[in-house]
Amino acid sequence: MPHVHVTFLGTGAGQCVYRAHTAIVLDWDDGTRVLLDASSGNSALRHGAQLGMLAQDFNQVLLSHHHGDHMGGLPYIQGQRNSTNPGGPPLQVYGTEESMSSVQRLFQATNARQRVDQDGLHTASGHRAALWHPTQPGQWVPLSPQVRARAFPVNHIAGAVGWRVESGGLAVVFSGDTRFSPSLVEAAQGAQLLIHEAISTHRDKEDADRRAHSTASDAARAAAEAGVSQLVLTHIDSKYHFNPQPLVEEARRSYSGPVGVACDLYQVSVTGG
Ligand SMILES: [Zn+2]
Ligand SMILES: [Zn+2]
Repeated sequence: MPHVHVTFLGTGAGQCVYRAHTAIVLDWDDGTRVLLDASSGNSALRHGAQLGMLAQDFNQVLLSHHHGDHMGGLPYIQGQRNSTNPGGPPLQVYGTEESMSSVQRLFQATNARQRVDQDGLHTASGHRAALWHPTQPGQWVPLSPQVRARAFPVNHIAGAVGWRVESGGLAVVFSGDTRFSPSLVEAAQGAQLLIHEAISTHRDKEDADRRAHSTASDAARAAAEAGVSQLVLTHIDSKYHFNPQPLVEEARRSYSGPVGVACDLYQVSVTGG
């Protein structure tokens, strides 16, 4: 049976002061490691190092969108790869056209000695250190002979997507940041694990909507309509850091499967397919 090990390196919303920003590792049974979003600053590296996951092990990154709390860590990941393994394989970064053009500007702004172009990044010594892969929603991206990924549009900012990553009938779906999204429901059909953002409970629905985020009940409704086997909530705000139970209780009212709230360094294994 196919198997994936999921590690949450960052589970905080953009304004959360208790958790690192979003970064999630998928380790598939064929050895493929996929990083979903790159957190901000050095958080993915710092939390990864605590678990023995080093920058040179992050070869493939799938970006949900270009907000700083999801892509800001990329230059640190790339810089660390370059210093520990100069001449190593390029970092492969997948995202929409909007995300990739922001990624280029981010690298241009943070290191003047590197040469950034449409295709990727050369270090000062001329080594091809990163490749950008602009990806259309709906297009399958092969990440290994067994593992493939497909982006789908969500409702957050222009160019924002979620990702479905699958191998041998086992699928993990990541919402990125979004309001309740019918296209997510469609893309997540039958997935074994849905990782969905939940910034608040329904009491703060108006605020969540204004910020283009989901409540726990939005996430649970998506999980129920998609018929997923398991729901993990992430992108948690400061208000729910110490007691995420209200998020779980609310989600349980709309979704009958297992529900959890991720915290930094939380790990879960999923088998199926
Ligand atoms: Zn965010
Ligand atoms: Zn965002």
